[in-house]
Amino acid sequence: MMKPIVLLGSTGSIGTQTLDVCRSHPDRLHVRGLSAHSRVAELAQQAKEFRPTYVVITDETKRDAVGSATFPSGTILLWGQDGIDELVTRADADTVVAAMVGAAGLRGTIRALEARKNVALANKETLVVGGPLVTELAQRNGCTLLPIDSEHSALWQCLQNGRKEEVSRVILTASGGPFRTRPIETLAEATIDEALAHPTWNMGPKITIDSATMMNKALEVIEAHWLFQMSTDQIDVVIHPQSMVHSMVEYQDGSVIAQISPPDMRLPIQYALTYPERLPGPCRKLNLKERSTWEFAEPDGARYPALRLGYEVIRRGGTSGSALNAANEVAVERFLQRSIRFTDIVSLCEAILSRHPFVAKPTLEDLMQVDRWARQEAGLWTPSV
Ligand code: NDP
Ligand code: MG
Repeated sequence: MMKPIVLLGSTGSIGTQTLDVCRSHPDRLHVRGLSAHSRVAELAQQAKEFRPTYVVITDETKRDAVGSATFPSGTILLWGQDGIDELVTRADADTVVAAMVGAAGLRGTIRALEARKNVALANKETLVVGGPLVTELAQRNGCTLLPIDSEHSALWQCLQNGRKEEVSRVILTASGGPFRTRPIETLAEATIDEALAHPTWNMGPKITIDSATMMNKALEVIEAHWLFQMSTDQIDVVIHPQSMVHSMVEYQDGSVIAQISPPDMRLPIQYALTYPERLPGPCRKLNLKERSTWEFAEPDGARYPALRLGYEVIRRGGTSGSALNAANEVAVERFLQRSIRFTDIVSLCEAILSRHPFVAKPTLEDLMQVDRWARQEAGLWTPSV
């Protein structure tokens, strides 16, 4: 059965791997729309190959870089966030893949759900910022949120082995990032190149820095809470440097079901797009004849202070996810611009989270207002000496 899809963020790490999955299944997956922010030449190349009905460029400053011959003649070019709204509403697609980075992905997901499309979600920031609104909207409109994040895809697969009320806890694995064994007192001096050198995954820069601070796992704890309705005491995190076990579910009889495969995002992407079927795909297979050791350890709170912020956001609810996410986006950007040190990222996030103008039951506009406030404050924040 042919599934028509729209892919938001097609030029990124998840975007290009999604197109790789589409390339492996031309008889099953058809690309009806693509969006990119700034990489116009890459988007044009993708449009030539996949012939979507629509393409969107969200960075409107690129208008001058686009000539009449940039895209194939049958492809309609749209611009900006309004273009995304039009794409997800008008495209004749069953599923929208949300692979943009950051809170910029929230509006597109909401519009897609309003248009009664299923959403294959890589963009975890969407649930961190707007978890209750997004999950409620999906439920009200009878749409499915299909997780792409590898840990959540793993949990989704493991949860099919029992009933929800039989689950005692979920266990998210974390690689520990590039600084797992580095002396803690030297972390403040960590360089951009060191923080971008992830040991097991090749991802976009924002999530790679998030993995080094472990803010990524904090965001994933929140994501698991919203996707699977788990309380804070049902979500555990364990360090597993080899990234082979992508997450686990423990049932009340003590049985633990794990999802295991070599690290390759094309597997969870393909599962989200072909669910409930499992098809042969482009991913490397597990080979247990290769000598290997898999380790598991408790995360050290002193090394990874970001992790507890994820639990705090679940406990406080309201606008706290929006504040944490916006603060973190700015902090990562400032670290990449050398305006703050590596360890300042989490200090900045904690400061903004603790003093943001909290609203307990926010509307979308409240969330956006806190997002704007937090970005502004995070831009002005200076480390205390
Ligand atoms: P990348 O930085 O590689 O790609 C981001 C994509 O979003 C690009 O297509 C980019 O366009 C587009 N984009 C950037 N800024 C904006 C904006 N303001 N508005 C609209 N589009 C924008 O990121 P990743 O692919 O690594 O990550 C995407 C999402 O998936 C993130 O939320 C991340 O947390 C999540 N994720 C990623 C994983 C991975 O392995 N990479 C694993 C699990 C989750 P352009 O490049 O043209 O400027
Ligand atoms: Mg993940």
